[in-house]
Amino acid sequence: MAKILIVEDEEPILNLIRMNLVKAGYQCGISMDGEEAADRIQEEDFDLILLDIMLPKLDGYEVLEYAKSQEIPVIFLTAMGDTAQKVRGLKMGAEDYISKPFDIAELLARVETVLRRCRKLDQSLRIGAIELRPESRTVLKNGAPVELTPKEYDLLYLFMRNRNRALYRETIYEHVWGGEYPGTGRTVDLHVQRLKKKLGLEKEIVAIYKVGYRLVG
Ligand code: CA
Repeated sequence: MAKILIVEDEEPILNLIRMNLVKAGYQCGISMDGEEAADRIQEEDFDLILLDIMLPKLDGYEVLEYAKSQEIPVIFLTAMGDTAQKVRGLKMGAEDYISKPFDIAELLARVETVLRRCRKLDQSLRIGAIELRPESRTVLKNGAPVELTPKEYDLLYLFMRNRNRALYRETIYEHVWGGEYPGTGRTVDLHVQRLKKKLGLEKEIVAIYKVGYRLVG
């Protein structure tokens, strides 16, 4: 599952894009200003960024520089008929652009094409000695396979896709077990403890008081 950051300060457009990408099976992050987008780009692992140009704090061209430094492909969301924006974006290194208002089917097609071209689909994830390979759902430690239960795998995948971010127990529960967090019980904690032990990630997966956990690295 590819993870996409949507940067757009017009909420209806942002929500429309997010809704459709989630429906298509992508994991989405959102930012409504350029500064926050730049922070998230440096802290998290995104596979693609959909980037508006006119944004508060930092504009899309400035945010593009952060994306390039992390080697994350960018599709610009440009104003219709603004050829200068399109040309400038492409010259600066954007992979593609799409004019607003756009057709959702076209947006999804462009997203898929750029992800495939940049080989961001099913790319393996690493932290320290641990490597996770999404295409085969396997986990290696120092190159040797580690046996994980499906829940442990899903948990590790969620952590690795959200490196350095605080994950609420509620969020973890929803992603890994599905459905609403029961509010009590130690299911999440017990699975996290077991995962830490199995993979030797005691230092990397840290508990956050009253919140949940964070994978640091
Ligand atoms: Ca805008």
